[in-house]
Amino acid sequence: MTPTKRDYYEILGVPKSADESQVKQAYRALAKKHHPDMNREDPKAAEEKFKELSEAYEVLMDKKKRANYDQFGHAGVDPSFGAGGFDFRRDFTHSDDIQDIFGSMFGGGGGGSIFDMLFGGGMGGTARTRGGRQVRRGGDLNVRLALTLEEVATGVEKTIQLKRFESCSECHGEGAKSGADIKECPACKGAGEVRQVSRSMFGQFINVGACPQCGGEGKIISNPCPSCKGEGRVKKEATIRVKVPAGVSNGNYIPLRNQGNIGPKLGPAGDILVYIEEKEHPLFHRHGDDLVLALPISYSQAALGAKVTVPMLSGKAELSIPTGTRSGKIFRMRGKGLPRLNSSGSGDQLIRVEIYIPSKLSTEEKKLLKQLGEVQNGRVPSPHKVDLSQFEE
Ligand SMILES: [Zn+2]
Ligand SMILES: [Zn+2]
Repeated sequence: MTPTKRDYYEILGVPKSADESQVKQAYRALAKKHHPDMNREDPKAAEEKFKELSEAYEVLMDKKKRANYDQFGHAGVDPSFGAGGFDFRRDFTHSDDIQDIFGSMFGGGGGGSIFDMLFGGGMGGTARTRGGRQVRRGGDLNVRLALTLEEVATGVEKTIQLKRFESCSECHGEGAKSGADIKECPACKGAGEVRQVSRSMFGQFINVGACPQCGGEGKIISNPCPSCKGEGRVKKEATIRVKVPAGVSNGNYIPLRNQGNIGPKLGPAGDILVYIEEKEHPLFHRHGDDLVLALPISYSQAALGAKVTVPMLSGKAELSIPTGTRSGKIFRMRGKGLPRLNSSGSGDQLIRVEIYIPSKLSTEEKKLLKQLGEVQNGRVPSPHKVDLSQFEE
């Protein structure tokens, strides 16, 4: 049983009228408090708490999701997350805020574990350059791509519009107003790291950590670039092309390496993860690689046999109904389903015939059926035990 979900406003401790900056502020404070690295005695509980906070933040920062939530409660938002509910890695779109909050805190020695934990090492944190100086990697971007079954069947190339951090063209990503505004950090002399000596009863320890003065960058900017406020990157509209192979399914994702947010001050870019979502098809169900379709036929077609037309995902096909076909019989058209991802061949198209009994009959039909009834004289098989496997689907 899933426990009752708490109210998002209550989780963040903000009033219903809270604006974006209030929500942000509340999240900032609580996220720091419940950071799993700060709660070593019970990191599992802290992680759960942290995810709960992040889900609330995700919803309240998104105008559409928030409006749905205000109107319909959790039921109004849950469907916008994928199967299994809110998934941090897939559904959290504010990884840059996390980086803002924790970048300075954990950007130093041994940081980034929160990113490893929540994002499977896919984003954020720090990457060391040679010489000990640190650069921050940009965050990953999660994008959802809804596809029709037809697109899944053939594979498709799509363009996606999104906003991502790109290098600031004013300062060429350096973050300074002019080249003269970048100075070597006096504390670490440009090395980006400092040695700290600590003494204890066990002896003397030397810790090498990121320089607190420059945050490990080795440089100090005296006059930040006005257009990116010293970040070296700005949000821009971007158009991304993605090639989707045939046979993908819900929850598959396509990683576009190094096409996500660029890191601050020329830090390496994160990835874009394109999550596949299937659109409901009006006619076909997908069952693995098979396509399933119900096909009504008439009693006379079933009894006498017939050639019928079957819709396919693309076009039509002819199917021979043999004499004496029972309702519920499943016909399998081999290789007419969806192509298998990462292997050869295709699934099948399954056609389940249903004998159609009209609810209204013409006078002519009535007359003929009465005659048929007289000829058949109530001839049906005797009662039998139900085949339970039919009820499993
Ligand atoms: Zn700039
Ligand atoms: Zn320094």
